[in-house]
Amino acid sequence: MQTINHTDIEVIEGIIRKCDLCFVGVVDQNNMPYVLPMNFGYQDKVIYLHSAPEGRVIDILNNNNNICVTFSADNELVFQHPEVACSYRMKSKSVIAMGKVEFVEDMDAKRDALNILMGTYIEKEFKYSDPAVRNVKIWKIPVDSISCKEFGAPHDEYKIKRSNDELRNNK
Ligand SMILES: Cc1cc2nc3c(=O)[nH]c(=O)nc-3n(C[C@H](O)[C@H](O)[C@H](O)COP(=O)(O)OP(=O)(O)OC[C@H]3O[C@@H](n4cnc5c(N)ncnc54)[C@H](O)[C@@H]3O)c2cc1C
Repeated sequence: MQTINHTDIEVIEGIIRKCDLCFVGVVDQNNMPYVLPMNFGYQDKVIYLHSAPEGRVIDILNNNNNICVTFSADNELVFQHPEVACSYRMKSKSVIAMGKVEFVEDMDAKRDALNILMGTYIEKEFKYSDPAVRNVKIWKIPVDSISCKEFGAPHDEYKIKRSNDELRNNK
């Protein structure tokens, strides 16, 4: 098993699209981290989040709009020997994106963001009333930097052996 750093944006976006949740990290006025699970939308290197207009996280962002968003997909426990604890691993792919939150105020832009958010979860067109759009806080996060690691990927020799085995078995 090996850990791979992925830099191909299509691979990274594929991992983000597999997720139905992200973890959003901010830093408060006392320099304390605050991490929340949140739903999200993603399009063209921009992450979209939505929330109530008030709350602890909004207070924090009004003071410091730096944000770290983490995604994790394909989590699977694997082992080489069931009785050996140190042979257990968690296979997983994760992405960490950094940026700054911009709150969207334009009503049409808010609707577009809501469609992107909803699109993560369901293929369906929605209409949003003016009061609903006014009362939701839309966070736009253009991604400044992104990293991606795949944990527990098979070694190349193993992949070659496996494909040779598969070829042999398919004969
Ligand atoms: C699967 C999932 C998806 C979610 N998606 C969204 C989303 O898309 N948008 C959204 O706005 N919210 C979402 N939430 C809720 C989100 O995690 C926060 O609870 C919410 O945003 C309020 O944050 P706040 O800082 O304004 O809370 P406040 O109500 O201001 O927080 C008060 C205190 O409550 C505690 N607290 C707040 N949130 C949590 C939490 N999640 N778990 C434990 N303690 C908490 C903290 O200690 C905090 O100091 C989601 C939660 C889950 C579990």
